[in-house]
Amino acid sequence: MVIAANLGFPRIGVHRDLKKALESYWKGEMTEHTLKDVAKELRKTHWTMQHRAGIKHVPSGDFSFYDQVLDTIAMVGAVPERYGFKGEKVDLATYFAMARGVQNKKDQADAPAMEMTKWFDTNYHYIVPEFSAGQKFALASDKIFEEFKEAKLQGLHTRPVLLGPISFLQLGKMKGEAKSAISLLPELLPVYERVLKQLAALGADWVQIDEPCLVLDLPANVRDAYKPTYEALAAAAPALHIMLATYFGDLRDNLETAVALPTAGLHIDLVRAPEQLDKVLAKFPAKKSLSLGVVNGRNIWRADLDIAVKLVEKAAGKLGSEWVQVAPSCSLLHTPVDLDIEDKLDAELKGWLAFSKQKLAEVAVITKAVSEGQAAVKSELEAARKAQESRKASPRIHNPKVKDRVAKIDASMKNRKSAFKARIKKQQEALSLPLLPTTTIGSFPQTAEVREARASFKAGKSDAATYNKFLKEETARCIKYQEEINIDVLVHGEFERNDMVEYFGEQLSGFTFTKNAWVQSYGARCVKPPIIFGDVTREKPMTVEWSTYSQSLTKRHMKGMLTGPVTILQWSFVRDDQPRSETCRQIALAIRDEVADLEKAGIKIIQIDEAAIREGLPLRRADWKAYLDWAVESFRITASVAKDETQIHTHMCYSEFNDIIAAIADMDADVISIETSRSQMELLDAFVNFKYPNQIGPGVYDIHSPRVPNQGEMESLLRKALKVLSPEQIWVNPDCGLKTRGWAEVKPALVSMVAAAKKLRGELKDKKLAS
Ligand code: GLN
Ligand code: ZN
Repeated sequence: MVIAANLGFPRIGVHRDLKKALESYWKGEMTEHTLKDVAKELRKTHWTMQHRAGIKHVPSGDFSFYDQVLDTIAMVGAVPERYGFKGEKVDLATYFAMARGVQNKKDQADAPAMEMTKWFDTNYHYIVPEFSAGQKFALASDKIFEEFKEAKLQGLHTRPVLLGPISFLQLGKMKGEAKSAISLLPELLPVYERVLKQLAALGADWVQIDEPCLVLDLPANVRDAYKPTYEALAAAAPALHIMLATYFGDLRDNLETAVALPTAGLHIDLVRAPEQLDKVLAKFPAKKSLSLGVVNGRNIWRADLDIAVKLVEKAAGKLGSEWVQVAPSCSLLHTPVDLDIEDKLDAELKGWLAFSKQKLAEVAVITKAVSEGQAAVKSELEAARKAQESRKASPRIHNPKVKDRVAKIDASMKNRKSAFKARIKKQQEALSLPLLPTTTIGSFPQTAEVREARASFKAGKSDAATYNKFLKEETARCIKYQEEINIDVLVHGEFERNDMVEYFGEQLSGFTFTKNAWVQSYGARCVKPPIIFGDVTREKPMTVEWSTYSQSLTKRHMKGMLTGPVTILQWSFVRDDQPRSETCRQIALAIRDEVADLEKAGIKIIQIDEAAIREGLPLRRADWKAYLDWAVESFRITASVAKDETQIHTHMCYSEFNDIIAAIADMDADVISIETSRSQMELLDAFVNFKYPNQIGPGVYDIHSPRVPNQGEMESLLRKALKVLSPEQIWVNPDCGLKTRGWAEVKPALVSMVAAAKKLRGELKDKKLAS
């Protein structure tokens, strides 16, 4: 019999219950006791849901108050020194101190939070483990045991989940040491051995150990560490079966290593990499369990059960069905909880989707189909087929005009008319901007007032005219303010936008939005990505009215503000019935039309934000080029409709640019603004070393912090930039949009920013006169 398994369940709750509880606990409005009760209730609900769906191997320990990597940090006692942790067990205060930092608490040291970064190529952020020279580890949390026992008391025998020791170290950072974190393995291993022994003593028969780093390019010493590590772990608790889980990609050059490890089982991702099944089967030893990730844990579509059943049957045929498990491709952390509560979607669309609960039902159907024969689940398979067919044939999805237009994209659509040197001359004539022009990235404070006005309009409590009037006044005020403080290139403030992707998605066809499809982004923060279900078209101009209204209020240049195709793609749930590149090109054409319309309406500067281009980079270096090719191409399709005189800007948030600087230059935006202030202009190095030819606005004001920088700080950052770039090349702007800041912080900061630019402008002029 094939076994139905799950690797992890979302923990936030169907109505973001955990988020709400955490926030009220942090505010001091909820006791620790109540918070723990909420968590316990959520675990119970989720275990029951999984059990009822027919899952045999239900995970435990996958719950988290903040993040599973932070849970591992606590488990192995890797609390950085600054949190003053002395006890035996990491308590909740220390745990949250690591996650969120502490300030002015009488019984705790003052310390900033630990660093956070994206979990592989997902939009989920984990806490980055910090290790130091002489790092020691010790078992410092009983969470994994407690949750196993808790489920047991409820009558459920679970499979505890741990993040594996090698991935844990690889995901961490060694502070102030040349050695890499993997050198700490001999110190760390005894803690894991102890954990496994204790789990076995509690009666666990399986444990899932996640080693997602096995799908990455690994240095040889790291790959070589797997064998001895898992030999030691297997020997520590011989009765305990280890399911070694890999996900998010193909094992490739790590395949032989992974397959040969002395673990009782191996989980592979067959959604991202179905082709690896044959290669794995060819090497797979007898009497070892293979877990097949055949239901997508990263997306919201119903699975094609026929394809999944075939894959599982193939493995069962080769290994014997008792050696096969069926599972989602990865933890369901990355999908929303339950489609059943979605009442905003129409029935047809809803019929194409599956969230976590529905995905587990699919796992169960696949399992049954292989174990008992397809007749046992005839109606379920039939329904799944119908859903696939309806999606394939739906006119809501397929628009021949769009497909035709994409097919006809040619070189002329991907290149500006002239090269940058010629363009910039014409632009300077048309724009007559001073040296070191000042601007902002687009949004101005989304105050409580703005959010309330939107909420009340959306709830039908105020009418469109009232809301529009409010937005117009807010925009006018914002423009007037920028004029008063003498910013050179203005923005309208983006008050009409809730979110830079949602705003466009709501106006494009092929997109839909849910009411409750939240997924965890980090800690208590959740996002509700749009769903791209069909061919994308722009029915009518999306921003032209706001831009022309704004431009009519000022003689200065107003930047038109658009979100780029890659960012829209990256921050949505995307179709699985065509390549991402195809969807991206469709979005590119839609935004291209908007560029053309803005230009026609007299807008001379247009910014196309590509905040997410870097994070879309594939996990394996060998795949980078293919991605960058279509990502850059999509941007160029969008921008190249502009006349030479029209200045195209782009903006990118915090990114490590070194690896992709050639691609960024290839985007050929006339001006790029980037985030550089936190790194004290270090991130500019990539541009300098590459001799980036076009104009750059290196951010001089860190907008992620409530701290207001003074003129001197911004001046000195600009001086740094002036040392390595020519003055004609530099723009002066903040790091990113100002929407998360308050006016009280923004006003003095921008005044100082303009003053800093003016001062340096004066100095540059004097130098010219003198020479
Ligand atoms: N134009 C957007 C803003 O200013 C850009 C935001 C972003 O880069 N994340 O808010
Ligand atoms: Zn940004």
